[in-house]
Amino acid sequence: MTKFADLGLDPKVLAAVDDAGYETPTPIQAGAIPPALIGRDVLGIAQTGTGKTASFTLPMITLLAKGRARARMPRSLVLAPTRELAAQVAENFDIYAKNTRLTKALLIGGVSFKEQDALINKGVDVLIATPGRLLDHFERGKLLLTGVQVMVVDEADRMLDMGFIPDIERIFQLTPFTRQTLFFSATMAPEIERITNTFLSNPEKIEVARAATTSETIEQGVVMFKASRKDRQAKEKRDLLRALIDKEGEACSNAIIFCNRKTEVDIVAKSLNKHGYNAAAIHGDLDQSHRMRTLDGFRDGSIRFLCASDVAARGLDIPNVSHVFNYDVPSHAEDYVHRIGRTGRAGREGKAMMICVPYDEKNFAAIEKLVDKEIPRIESPVEFTAPSKPASKSAKPADEDKKPKSEKAERSSDKPKSSRSRGGRKSGRDRYQNDEPVVGMGDHVPAFLTRSFKSTAA
Ligand code: AMP
Repeated sequence: MTKFADLGLDPKVLAAVDDAGYETPTPIQAGAIPPALIGRDVLGIAQTGTGKTASFTLPMITLLAKGRARARMPRSLVLAPTRELAAQVAENFDIYAKNTRLTKALLIGGVSFKEQDALINKGVDVLIATPGRLLDHFERGKLLLTGVQVMVVDEADRMLDMGFIPDIERIFQLTPFTRQTLFFSATMAPEIERITNTFLSNPEKIEVARAATTSETIEQGVVMFKASRKDRQAKEKRDLLRALIDKEGEACSNAIIFCNRKTEVDIVAKSLNKHGYNAAAIHGDLDQSHRMRTLDGFRDGSIRFLCASDVAARGLDIPNVSHVFNYDVPSHAEDYVHRIGRTGRAGREGKAMMICVPYDEKNFAAIEKLVDKEIPRIESPVEFTAPSKPASKSAKPADEDKKPKSEKAERSSDKPKSSRSRGGRKSGRDRYQNDEPVVGMGDHVPAFLTRSFKSTAA
């Protein structure tokens, strides 16, 4: 078995790894670190939870140990799709670089420009950024990328989902041709393949697990749920979620509850709290410090249920999550793999349950196709019966008041520069997905509709 000491890392880095309590390198670390240390480009196909952050941070620190930072010219660049992921990489950097004098700056939305500008002006070794924010700084003339020796692209597939690929291409072009690139993605979509063919030079390819593989330690299940009446679906779904949680009892020490839309994340968190469950919401409309506080609360156990959107939760390293609930079936099958990968980490047991309403059956079928197995059906722990008397025509469905008029883009200042964003714009299908009743004209029929007309036919 490979040992950290055999990988060629700087002794100061090895000491930090030892302090972090890691005994052996994970497969992505064993595969990526040696070629990275000899200056090769690396293409890592790995999901979060595989130790991939250390697989690029450790060699980067070793490589940067020689040389000094210059004003406004960072020596290395790490691009991450979301603020939380960027912040997480920065935290990792602090742990592994603690015995060195390397400096870093974090460029993410929601953190003041001024402070980061001052750091960059002084000169930093490592710049960790979301693509939009990085280009903001660049365009303000505060930053030169011509000194970048090592560039890391983390979670490239999520960058693609968020419409960041044109930004990434632009950033690649702003850095020197001679730079070393360490590129990570959980999946190799054709667009990602194109980017790697264009910007990576003869990379060492390391694939640690098929992206569609769900961990064997995760017990999966789905409730095929049909509401007693269409306009009661949202309320009954929330009741069902609570029933599923209750059924798990003590075994459910904490859970991430995924919803497809930010408004739903808020509604579910609010509803859980109303019913005495300790829950908090995390999504891109909440400000950065709020999101960080919520995450810390979830990590230290003061928050038991984290209601999350994909963008906010993707890649977050939260150990010991006993359960994942897919309150909504994700509309992209790969998101299912990422979502349930929040539990069952590092060989621990985990449980992932999903609620599938009739509308979502097509997306559900795509998930089963991707993971290439049947997800066991579980019985609904509650039964719902519609009240015998139908509600009057004019009455609003239970959730009507809470329905959003429209949805804003998931991110604000981390938005892609290009117009190719998928996150903010709704597909035609999504637009009509909110089950709002069609408002008709009641009993009133406009006069023009009742007017008779002459036929011109002979
Ligand atoms: P990542 O895939 O980078 O999000 O890492 C997932 C988790 O694995 C993090 O909590 C790391 O601290 C941890 N980790 C990384 N490398 C190792 C290792 N060699 N041994 C044990 N844990 C590790």
